[in-house]
Amino acid sequence: MKKGIEYTGKVVELSFPNKGKVDCGEEGTAIVKGTIPGQTVRFVVSKKRSGNSIGRLKKVIDKSRLEDVQPQCPHFQFCGGCAYQTMSYVNQIKLKEKMIKEILDSAVVGDYQFEGIWKSPMQWEYRNKMEFSFGDEVKDGPLALGMHKRNSFHDIVTVNQCQIVDEDYRKVLDCVLDYCREKELPFYRKLKHEGYLRHLLVRRTTMTKQMLVAIVTTSDKEYEEQAQWDNLLKKLQALNLNAKLCGVLHIINDGLADVVQSDETRVLFGEEYIYEELLGLRFKISVFSFFQTNSSGAEILYSKAREYIGDTKDMTVFDLYSGTGTIAQIIAPVAQKVVGVEIVEEAVRAARVNAELNGLHNCEFIAGDVLEVVDGIKDKPDIIILDPPRDGVNPKALKKIIDFGVEKIVYISCKPTSLARDLEMLQAQGYRVEKGCAVDMFPNTVHVESIVLLSHKSPDSTINVKVEFGEGKGKVPLDVIAERAKKY
Ligand code: SAH
Repeated sequence: MKKGIEYTGKVVELSFPNKGKVDCGEEGTAIVKGTIPGQTVRFVVSKKRSGNSIGRLKKVIDKSRLEDVQPQCPHFQFCGGCAYQTMSYVNQIKLKEKMIKEILDSAVVGDYQFEGIWKSPMQWEYRNKMEFSFGDEVKDGPLALGMHKRNSFHDIVTVNQCQIVDEDYRKVLDCVLDYCREKELPFYRKLKHEGYLRHLLVRRTTMTKQMLVAIVTTSDKEYEEQAQWDNLLKKLQALNLNAKLCGVLHIINDGLADVVQSDETRVLFGEEYIYEELLGLRFKISVFSFFQTNSSGAEILYSKAREYIGDTKDMTVFDLYSGTGTIAQIIAPVAQKVVGVEIVEEAVRAARVNAELNGLHNCEFIAGDVLEVVDGIKDKPDIIILDPPRDGVNPKALKKIIDFGVEKIVYISCKPTSLARDLEMLQAQGYRVEKGCAVDMFPNTVHVESIVLLSHKSPDSTINVKVEFGEGKGKVPLDVIAERAKKY
């Protein structure tokens, strides 16, 4: 296959999250992102990587048998948020289950039990948080507010009909966009680093129906005068929302990276946080703390994790990468002590307040990088829970975690390929995967969570573990694993 040339072929396989293997007969095969197994697609070869052709999707010529419904959202074709809306939920679930099983099957050494996938209780309007970006849909077009266009770094699609969020989000989005258009405020151009409007962050809890709205801009004084945010506040307060508007914030962000962060937070109204309830516990959530974005799905994820953790009576449990301390607090009532470690200080503060709110006095939350914090913890863990961000656990931190020598580790992962990489080291050091499952926290998108239970039966079991990859000595050196990590 040649670079720059278009080909047509059939998607014969999909690997996580959305890389389709396209068979073009005698012309060869290519990897094309954003495809669904069974589709016939037209693509252009955009690059060659170690002999393999990588294609960019041009057109779906024939639908797959899995695509059995009409997309529910009018933005589906353009928006980069959802990818699976042409498949019924049953088909989405089957596809995700198959991909997770394949990843685990190839990563796990020996037998283990794959328990399948758990559905999200809500397929639509399930998100309790959304980050919308300001921009334009086409160059120099009218102001847009929404999600990145599919496969585009620059263009933004206004998603005022988005179906994975509740109607309240759509009302707030329209209100903010209309207001900013009326005031003729410019959006921030991330390459030139000029302009004003950056993001609109909305949190709306599913169980308690509380809402927090934050407008993120640069610190430009001139535009700020022009904006008169207090007038927008009045408009927001006049909206007929199902949830209670608990806070409206103006966040100043002059940072160069295209992420939502705060140099300064101004409260225009109310509080800087809201509360959500999960499994009978109450959690305070601030703008920047991590909180699972699908509350009803989180109840399933945490229940499953609790089941995997099993008996914790008289035990000390470490909840590493603890966010606002959700898992720690679910375990605390049935454990002797839980220690949570989290890098975002604001989340740690919230976790402490949460534990207090829930009357739990056996939780300790430590702010810092797991890699460093674990060196100084006095308590000895009996069980460790890992719930790292997408990149998985830093190999050096994982080494230290393994050195605690606990019998049980429960690993929750939002990126199964990172989990697969970390399983390599865990198994090489004597851990066995007992069972695993997937929980769909993100219907209509390619994402999915997975959980595995690992056990370490005897300190000598390292020598019995057969490592199919690596050096065949039962242990894979750290630097080799770090090198391999790059390919995921
Ligand atoms: N267990 C929590 C959060 C999981 S998300 C929950 O279920 O809600 C992963 C968390 O890891 C995020 O809160 C992130 O801020 C935190 N994190 C990322 N890198 C970290 C590191 N090196 N050390 C400690 N925490 C980290």
